[in-house]
Amino acid sequence: MDRESEMRDNLFRVVTVLYIIIYARLSKEEEGKTPEEQSKSIQNQIDICQRYINDEQQKYPNIQFKVVAKLSDDGISGTTFDRADFKRLIKLIESKQANMVITKDQSRFGREHIESDNYMERWFPEHNVRYVAVLDGVDTYVPDSANNDMAPIKNWMNEMYAKHTSRSVKATKKKNALEGIWNGGEPVLGLQIDPNNEGCLILEPKGAEIVKMLAELVLDNKSLDEIVDILIEKKIPIPSIIKGNSRNLNKEVEEIWDTETIRDILTNEMITGVMVQGKTTTLSHKSKKVIYLPEEDWIRVPDKVPVIIPRERFEAIQTMLKSNKNKTTKSHDYLLKGLMRCADCGHAISIKHFKDRKNNYVECCYYKKYGRRKEVCTAHRFSYEELEKLVLDNVKNECMQYVKDNDLAEKLKNKKESKEKQVDLRLKIDKCNRNIDKLNKSIDKMYQRLDAGIIDEDDYTRMTKNTKAAINSEKLLLETYTKDLEVLKEKKVKEPNYIKIVKEFLSLKKPNRILLSRLIEVIYVNDDGTIDIHYRVKNPYKDN
Ligand SMILES: [Zn+2]
Repeated sequence: MDRESEMRDNLFRVVTVLYIIIYARLSKEEEGKTPEEQSKSIQNQIDICQRYINDEQQKYPNIQFKVVAKLSDDGISGTTFDRADFKRLIKLIESKQANMVITKDQSRFGREHIESDNYMERWFPEHNVRYVAVLDGVDTYVPDSANNDMAPIKNWMNEMYAKHTSRSVKATKKKNALEGIWNGGEPVLGLQIDPNNEGCLILEPKGAEIVKMLAELVLDNKSLDEIVDILIEKKIPIPSIIKGNSRNLNKEVEEIWDTETIRDILTNEMITGVMVQGKTTTLSHKSKKVIYLPEEDWIRVPDKVPVIIPRERFEAIQTMLKSNKNKTTKSHDYLLKGLMRCADCGHAISIKHFKDRKNNYVECCYYKKYGRRKEVCTAHRFSYEELEKLVLDNVKNECMQYVKDNDLAEKLKNKKESKEKQVDLRLKIDKCNRNIDKLNKSIDKMYQRLDAGIIDEDDYTRMTKNTKAAINSEKLLLETYTKDLEVLKEKKVKEPNYIKIVKEFLSLKKPNRILLSRLIEVIYVNDDGTIDIHYRVKNPYKDN
């Protein structure tokens, strides 16, 4: 099945009832005919529509085709908008009592093409209405129908379908989780999906041995850092390799064990034989954002999974993992925390804390994680305190220069000039708006003349073409002026704020991190110990 008919099928799975308006209208040529002939024409149009509906109903027996109104206008009245039944049609759609409109042909719909295009291309799609002109073969649900851009309807179809499936997938997943049926996804190390029954988990012996070993080591009072070293030394493969997922690995570096991986495995209740699912959900079918649910909302089903670590041992491990030894080192409030990056690989620079503060040093995270095993980046290991001093000196110099330049500039700057420019721009903006107004009115007038039959459609198109172009160029000008004005206004606001931060920074005896991070975007640490500081705002008075 091709994509388009697939979508159509999907749509019909979602939309089960089509509430239809049949709309008929006399054409100009029929104006002079006798009332009998006229009513015959209206009836004829309605019959054609009705036959079309009967055919569709046979083709799609699962959909209900319900005619909610048969409307008709005589076509004699003055402007398009005066048609009484047409107004009724609009009302029915706006009040969501109809989602389909059928006419005999397109011309029944609007006066010539101007109106009908507008409805087909914009108004119907916006209101999720299917429009069919039987004899013209127009059907806004059939994307191949030559008459318009189907994007709005397609979007709507896709959305309805996605909403529908997303809801039923969620429900199935929850039902499975409650029954202890595995919903897929990679289970914890030591377990694998039963190749004969994908809803079941069985033991994966190699991984299970490693989990047992990890448990042993923790209960043996080893810290997670020590365990990492043991695993690396013993050349124990990491979980992705054991599970055969090596294609997910970062090919550039040889990945190694880290403390978080071990912690994740040993805190996963699944190793005690409980199937745990429903840890996450998504906000809606529109958002793929994953939300982590609180632990009490997880779905736990006991005795569904082979036990790797008995419950009592698992509890003991949790206590050990919470001990001081395994806590992540409580980080100091370093002034430069989170501001430094490796100039060579772009990864963060971490600060290694020692109890004796004189020994603190920084190191490239990437190197720290992988560098021991493979040649990635270089250590970038420097004394933190020296680096901090270097940064502060640099910032102070920069700030002092900024204040100096700013003072000088203040004096030189002709404040009057900026104000005059702003006034001038405001005048220009006003003028543009007035011009656009005028031009729009002239188009309206032209349309009235067209409607009254004074000019024909060709004249209308020709005469409005230039006006439309003029509107566009006025709009362009307006945009430029508005932007310029914004820039002028912004300059006025932003600069003093920044100079305030700079001055505040200089006034502090002990600089604080919040203020520093408002001045600095990032500090790049080079491998020769030098730094490049990227400031949030460039000194506007400085060349280059
Ligand atoms: Zn690096």
